[in-house]
Amino acid sequence: MTGGRALLYASAVSGIALGVRSVTKGAVPPELAAGAAVGFASVIMAGVLEPRLAMFADVINRGEPSPDAPRIALTFDDGPDLEHTPPILDALAAAGAHATFFVIGRKLTGARSALARRMREAGHAIGCHSFAHDRLFALRSGRRVRDDLLLSLKTIEDATGASTKLFRPPIGHTNPTIARVAEELDLDVIGFSVRGYDGTSRARAERVSGRVIAGLRDGAIVLLHDGAERDDFTPIAPEILPGVLAEMGARSLAGVTVDELIAERPSPTASKSSKP
Ligand SMILES: [Zn+2]
Repeated sequence: MTGGRALLYASAVSGIALGVRSVTKGAVPPELAAGAAVGFASVIMAGVLEPRLAMFADVINRGEPSPDAPRIALTFDDGPDLEHTPPILDALAAAGAHATFFVIGRKLTGARSALARRMREAGHAIGCHSFAHDRLFALRSGRRVRDDLLLSLKTIEDATGASTKLFRPPIGHTNPTIARVAEELDLDVIGFSVRGYDGTSRARAERVSGRVIAGLRDGAIVLLHDGAERDDFTPIAPEILPGVLAEMGARSLAGVTVDELIAERPSPTASKSSKP
């Protein structure tokens, strides 16, 4: 069980215990009841906002360490971008590294669609980052979430000629509805273990680079951006990527796609059946 889910269950059990106590021994003090309600709401909110807690979905935040051939998965969200994605592809090619691009479905038109095909032909993986990148995705109905993801998956397949099972929710928010739809569509929900915090116009190259380099460990999944969600600022990733790739080279860390990184993850079924 993930730590996030254990926290969720513990909070729920505490709430139930408080309810039982108020029935059997009289109402609990209002401050205690209010505190418990705020605490439970905070736990739920943390689970929605922070995919690394894996509270609602089995979010994959890292791969298994591979000491004989250490590797990490660089991931880029919110593209493709005609100006900023090509230098990233060039830097990856120069370093002999592969990466995963979580594209926004609605951006896959015309030349951007051709760019997605180029990514795939260069050996990179394409992941679904929803069609509309709706910032309120976590508040939408199951039907709307499903329709959006199906459209995005079809758009990716039309553009690149290949389907994908990789899905990263927009803004990284997950909840039980998103988790259920992802499971129905047989998608792997991909989070990250290292975050550059480069997805805003306020990001500064030195700080993003420092955060990413500090997190370069075998099995890491690194979150960066090759595009601005609304094409309204210049992403910092093309500037810092050569330095990050050089550091990976110095530490003998190969850059692989998320598919490759998680390929040998024991499935829940396999790990269960291996137990006596
Ligand atoms: Zn995004």
